[in-house]
Amino acid sequence: MLPKLTWSAALLAACVFAFTACFGGGDSSSSKPSSASSTVPSSSSMHSSSSGVMDKVESGASDVMSGAMSDASDAWSEAVSDASDAMSDARSRLNAREESGVMSESRPAAAEAESSWALRLVNAESPLPEGFSVETRAIPGYENREFDARAADALEQMLSDAEAAGCKLYLVSAYRSVARQDALFRRKTEAFMEEGFPREEAERQAARYVARPGTSEHNLGLAADIVSADWYSSNNDLTTAFEDTPHFAWLAAHCADYGFILRYPEGKEAVTGVTYEPWHYRYVGADAARAIMENGLTLEEYVGKT
Ligand SMILES: [Zn+2]
Repeated sequence: MLPKLTWSAALLAACVFAFTACFGGGDSSSSKPSSASSTVPSSSSMHSSSSGVMDKVESGASDVMSGAMSDASDAWSEAVSDASDAMSDARSRLNAREESGVMSESRPAAAEAESSWALRLVNAESPLPEGFSVETRAIPGYENREFDARAADALEQMLSDAEAAGCKLYLVSAYRSVARQDALFRRKTEAFMEEGFPREEAERQAARYVARPGTSEHNLGLAADIVSADWYSSNNDLTTAFEDTPHFAWLAAHCADYGFILRYPEGKEAVTGVTYEPWHYRYVGADAARAIMENGLTLEEYVGKT
């Protein structure tokens, strides 16, 4: 099993693991982009499986993943024991990449000011107002993936820089209208009612898996569910085992540079009201993202609503 780590130690290890796995030497074949366009499920099949994704979140890791997890666990242990050396080595490699313009040339303005729209809190206690709307735009390379138009460049840049670093990511889900959220929630509720739960209890059960309409950050347009292309084509699912991939390590180490945070960290369930989701990233703007990620905070804590 993974050693118990503090959040900062885990983040440090994530940085090291990300650098080692994604930038390290010649042997990065395991994290090289694969034929994602042909193996990743089409948008329409993903739609039909979206409730399945929710259903299967707790279904546990497959044998294949157990193997991958134990490999990843070894890699983590190594990364942790070697942390400081590897960190400075990785930093100089990162600097070299930045100097060569690989990562920073077209990075969106890191100086994006913290602003009210980007820090808007949406959770079970703070639903979006009735009639909420947001201007979204499509993310190229995907069908039916829209994101808040003000933050879409940042998302695109993060995805393309990750790919350039050998960590090809896959955007599973982005903006979801309140109407779509309502449909998902109703479908889940009905499934529980078919199991014999009365409506109110069925809704309570459904809310454990699908956010109530207006309470999901996906309704806001600033949340993205991201895994690796390889992961999604072989798992077709979102599970916490994703944390043991170099792709997660890359995201944990770099998302703040693009204004994103890991929105539902492990151990913060009592604050966020949501179980650990290593795939869910929320745009908050670069300054807030750095403060949140570096200090192991949640958005609730950062905006002072806990
Ligand atoms: Zn999500």
